[in-house]
Amino acid sequence: MGQYLPEKINVKGESFRIYLTQEEIQQRIKQIGKQLSTKFQDKRPIFIGVLNGSYIFLADLMRYVNIPCEVDFMKLSSYGDEKVSSGQVHDLKQIDADIQDRHVIIVEDIVDTGLSMKYLVEKLKQHQPASLTVVTLLHKAESTQHDVQIDFTAFKIPNLFVLGYGLDFAQEGRNLGQIYIQTAGEDS
Ligand code: 5GP
Repeated sequence: MGQYLPEKINVKGESFRIYLTQEEIQQRIKQIGKQLSTKFQDKRPIFIGVLNGSYIFLADLMRYVNIPCEVDFMKLSSYGDEKVSSGQVHDLKQIDADIQDRHVIIVEDIVDTGLSMKYLVEKLKQHQPASLTVVTLLHKAESTQHDVQIDFTAFKIPNLFVLGYGLDFAQEGRNLGQIYIQTAGEDS
């Protein structure tokens, strides 16, 4: 059975079209995996995935990293089931690993206002890691208001709602194999 790759999709009455194909995503992630492998050679980094949205990106990215490494997860929530940030970050799951003196790579699905990433970086810095690197699949640069650290961005995107490849709309759409963008008034 193939992956779930429709041309267009409707979720809860809203229309979305393909924005980044499976091939584009895989090619870019492969490049970043290679760069991280070089940067962290002999450093045994620990990847920290930010749940839920980053789980597919993280799973693919780690398989393009060809050095010894570890993984752990945090869970934050700021959107609930809405398409607009609530302006508040909730901490739903903390990391289990001891990251003091470790090389930490935060893996996020998307940086929008930057609030979640700012919160995350400040929180993880309190554990005194040896280094902190931020990787995001998507960055809505125009809507970022907070001063955030981002070291690797796979794709910069416009300020429109996206779903697929781990990102949801009201918990739907995470299993789409590529990234879809809201058609915002275009013909659906
Ligand atoms: P920020 O704190 O930067 O405003 O928002 C970050 C979080 O908002 C992301 O981790 C993600 O969960 C959610 N988010 C922001 N923009 C989008 C979007 O276009 N689509 C989806 N599915 N989630 C988004």
